[in-house]
Amino acid sequence: MTDLPLVVITGASSGIGAATARAFAAAGHPLLLIARRLEPMVELGLENAELAAVDVTDTAAVAEALARAEERFGAADLLVNNAGLMALSAVAEQDPALVQEQFDVNCVALMKNSQLVLPGMQTRRRGTIVNIGSIAGKQLYTDHTVYNGTKYAVHAMTEGLRRENAAHGVRVLLVAPGMVDTGLLGNTGEGAVLDGYLDYKSSIGGGLRPDDIAQAILTAYQLPQHISFREIVVAPTSQDA
Ligand code: NDP
Repeated sequence: MTDLPLVVITGASSGIGAATARAFAAAGHPLLLIARRLEPMVELGLENAELAAVDVTDTAAVAEALARAEERFGAADLLVNNAGLMALSAVAEQDPALVQEQFDVNCVALMKNSQLVLPGMQTRRRGTIVNIGSIAGKQLYTDHTVYNGTKYAVHAMTEGLRRENAAHGVRVLLVAPGMVDTGLLGNTGEGAVLDGYLDYKSSIGGGLRPDDIAQAILTAYQLPQHISFREIVVAPTSQDA
């Protein structure tokens, strides 16, 4: 067993979330990992980890998983709101269900799941929430309209949440990656939009590795509680957009 506090990571079944789970496990933290697919989280083979096959939009199920993990490991000291999806398309051609889902997962779940940990963190006067935004929360890209909207919202809400929690001693940080080599393109159907994205990605060397983002999160978290990085924008050096 470890004395370090519980770290909660959503979207831990692949990409940045899985890499973040490995990084915090290696640093000695007990974990609550949340994603819909259980098997990839089992395959991470991490000790001291509660695994919850839960949809992040199901707040009651997330709350139940959190209660179970806190019972086993003590209070959550870090929530990484990482679960997200990107479905690229011109809006006129986009499946309305994907418009809804991108906002539900990327924005609404991020706020409602933050509400589950904030009162305890405020009472303890310590704790950290890391929201994964995107460089697409800072500038617009073609065929990114809905995704851009969700990430601009994440950036705005993160800054609002940071201000609300400053006096409580609770850190709220934004990590906004540029291109990272993950499964994020899984929700963009085949065709010119996907090809254009892949062409650019390969022209800049394929993007960062998920471990690169995990290291940025770990570094920011491991600073003393009174130091807040506020915002980390981390992209491949070769990414010019
Ligand atoms: P992946 O597709 O590899 O990972 C997305 C994760 O989110 C998966 O673990 C998936 O798990 C989980 N997820 C999606 N929907 C739900 C849901 N409803 N409930 C629970 N979990 C869910 O992509 P990334 O690792 O790239 O994405 C992680 C975050 O990073 C996202 O917020 C993304 O927007 C952001 N980002 C990524 C960039 C990139 O270039 N890759 C750049 C900038 C930001 P499961 O399917 O098992 O539920």
